[in-house]
Amino acid sequence: MVSRVIPVDPFDLTIFGGTGDLAHRKILPALYRRFRAGQMPEGSRIIGAARSDLNDDQYRDEVRAALKEFVAAPKLDDAALAGFLDLIRYVAIDAVGDNGWKELKELVRDDHISAFYFSVAPALFGPLAERLHSHGMADDTTRIVVEKPFGRDLASARALNRTLAEHFHETQIYRIDHYLGKETVQNLMALRFGNVLFEPLWNSQYVDHIQITVAETVGVGGRGGYYDRSGAMRDMVQNHLMQLLCLIAMEPPSQFEPGAVRDEKLKVIRSLDPVKPDDIVRGQYASNGKTASYLEDVEDPQSTTESFVALKAHISNWRWAGTPFYLRTGKRLKARQSEIAVVFKDAPHSIFGAEAGRHRNILTIRLQPNEGMTLGVTIKEPGPGGMRLIDVPLDMTFADALGAENEQVTDAYERLVMDVIRGNQTLFMRGDEVEAAWAWTDPIIERWDADGSKPFPYEPGSSGPEESAMMLHRENRRWREIRE
Ligand code: NAD
Repeated sequence: MVSRVIPVDPFDLTIFGGTGDLAHRKILPALYRRFRAGQMPEGSRIIGAARSDLNDDQYRDEVRAALKEFVAAPKLDDAALAGFLDLIRYVAIDAVGDNGWKELKELVRDDHISAFYFSVAPALFGPLAERLHSHGMADDTTRIVVEKPFGRDLASARALNRTLAEHFHETQIYRIDHYLGKETVQNLMALRFGNVLFEPLWNSQYVDHIQITVAETVGVGGRGGYYDRSGAMRDMVQNHLMQLLCLIAMEPPSQFEPGAVRDEKLKVIRSLDPVKPDDIVRGQYASNGKTASYLEDVEDPQSTTESFVALKAHISNWRWAGTPFYLRTGKRLKARQSEIAVVFKDAPHSIFGAEAGRHRNILTIRLQPNEGMTLGVTIKEPGPGGMRLIDVPLDMTFADALGAENEQVTDAYERLVMDVIRGNQTLFMRGDEVEAAWAWTDPIIERWDADGSKPFPYEPGSSGPEESAMMLHRENRRWREIRE
């Protein structure tokens, strides 16, 4: 299959934090894969900018080692690697001082598209924006890419938006949520708005409820200090899960275009009811003797930060009134699994009698592992002996359907970085969206802080605290099983 790709002009991409973990694991491998796919025009420059005192060749060695570690061997050929390393430059720079800015200015060409990726601690986002401006690198065509977290509450997100807005227009700011770059997430939009099949059913008349699960098996590991100041609500729900909720729930935008898509997402967030105390459960993983507990993984033995959260959300609009959205995410769970399940209502009347059982259509959209979609349909169990019904999956695993080697199964960062170069903001969060999401999550976090309650402990390798299952039991529903 030949993929159609919009060509781009040569560009200069500067990665602030080019020696960091994210650059090594995600950004540089993504750029390499796009280079190897022939999508990076000759004459482009990738400039690592970080604190370490390195020259170009030393940084190239570092990039080579990172690619060897994080790019699958079959895709790492010598010719492509050498070509890619030719694009690489390095500047030792201080985001909060004067060091390195003159050198960077000399490398970044005025007559090329220039993008600056802020892959550094959030405290440096503001200083970087200011210095890009004061050193004459912020003209109307400049783009900046801002990593998560974007604030830790509404007030800090607003302050950051204001700081960035002093130096850049909203059309120049690319706030990353890498979930939006996932193939399945875009397929969700193709599924909804490219087919007539689903949209007529996509409302509270036919959908009983929707579940969004992002489960991880890892604990907080070496990120304990960072994570403990954040927690699942800030780290996952406010951004990734809410973005998924928006795409599932939004009205059809008039076009697949940044303004139209982001307007519709914003309307969803603004239509969310406040979450009632009984409709949210938070948890903290315990120890099972083999792995450390959350409290052992972080520095504060009294911490009440949640490593798990499950909640029920309601969207007050005509389409969704009465259909709950259940969101859950956590660490040290049974399996690594991200999925959205649209659970349709029962048929209004069963002509097959009670023995045929209760059957529901469930559309499952898997983000990881095995990106793909499955639609459960009810059929007759084969064979004689009456009418018994069973559910069978109509399965579309992208790697099978499109071919595992197909370039179209691209990593989220590959797509997002190239979208920045193309100037396409559709899959990036707009400032008002981020603020609206914080405005919804802030009261939940403030309530926890104020009421002195503690998260429920849960067994590592489980599906989270029992109270999360109870939350759905009360309503005669069940979470879907977490499994690979
Ligand atoms: P890191 O600590 O591994 O790297 C930080 C980088 O910032 C280094 O290159 C360092 O040299 C540079 N740096 C630090 N102080 C500087 C200064 N004063 N001037 C110039 N450069 C300076 O961090 P990371 O894990 O790569 O994360 C970077 C950003 O990406 C953070 O905002 C983080 O929240 C976000 N993020 C990281 C991950 C991840 O998996 N690592 C995932 C999502 C988001």
